[in-house]
Amino acid sequence: MSKFLVSVPLVGLSLLLILNGCSYQRDQGKSNQTPTNNPLVMNTGPNVNSPNVNNPNANIPSPSNIPSPSIGSKNSDVPDLSGGSEFKTRNGQHSSRFSNVVFYEGPNTSKVVALTFDDGPDTVYTNQILNILSQNGVKATFFIVGLRAQAHPEMVSRIAQGGHAIGNHSWDHPDLVKLTPQTIKTEIIKTDELLNSILGYHPQIFRPPYGAASSNDVQLISSMGFKIIDWSVDTRDWAGTPPETIMSYFYKEFRPGGIILQHCAGGKNERLDNTVIALTNMISVLKTQGYSFVTIPQLLNISR
Ligand SMILES: [Zn+2]
Repeated sequence: MSKFLVSVPLVGLSLLLILNGCSYQRDQGKSNQTPTNNPLVMNTGPNVNSPNVNNPNANIPSPSNIPSPSIGSKNSDVPDLSGGSEFKTRNGQHSSRFSNVVFYEGPNTSKVVALTFDDGPDTVYTNQILNILSQNGVKATFFIVGLRAQAHPEMVSRIAQGGHAIGNHSWDHPDLVKLTPQTIKTEIIKTDELLNSILGYHPQIFRPPYGAASSNDVQLISSMGFKIIDWSVDTRDWAGTPPETIMSYFYKEFRPGGIILQHCAGGKNERLDNTVIALTNMISVLKTQGYSFVTIPQLLNISR
């Protein structure tokens, strides 16, 4: 009996060490993909200056301190993201020459925000998020990965039937900066054709995976008729960020016209339970403060 009592904690400790070892290795691998010094990476003008990026004393964990994703995937029924998890560090500067092409936020003239959810659909978190949005009468925008839409076309239909906007988020979520123009075109067109076959229209908004696109990429994607949608509020939810930390990022960055980035499906082994928990709170806070919820086409007054 006493032997049993001793061995259980030991087994538990061993498991903990093994799991920690796995998560450490995953982070090491991911850091190699981080485009830290790439001047061509486009992203989130407002976020570049966010206190948690530049201010080491900010009362928010820095991107490098974001907790590792929880172990044990709940969305293993979807194809993985070919470029890996979302990047922890996002650099780059918004160029005013793309002001009618690349959008980080909408007009700040009224109390509206756009909730956006990337990398879906899956059949777990996407459903939970759609339920919360429906219960609260909130319309949002979903940036869809083509390969995942192919796996779960019925989920794309459910999103559209809920009155939400849909955007193109590439076929399998690569880092576009590493691809040839022809491959980028293929990534976008393949997804576009699939979305059109499900929705009956061609979504005209595109979000580059990781927010990463060179100037040439922006010109190419624009020439294909798309507006490029980035974000002004990065919740870092994909990284297993605790709900209270998601909310602290939100409080730090949200304002009228904001575009809030969240996810409705993660990378391999990434869980989004915290996204679901924080979402209800976030909607409640925004409603209390008198905000309305709009889709990206509504926010920017552009075609869907
Ligand atoms: Zn993504």
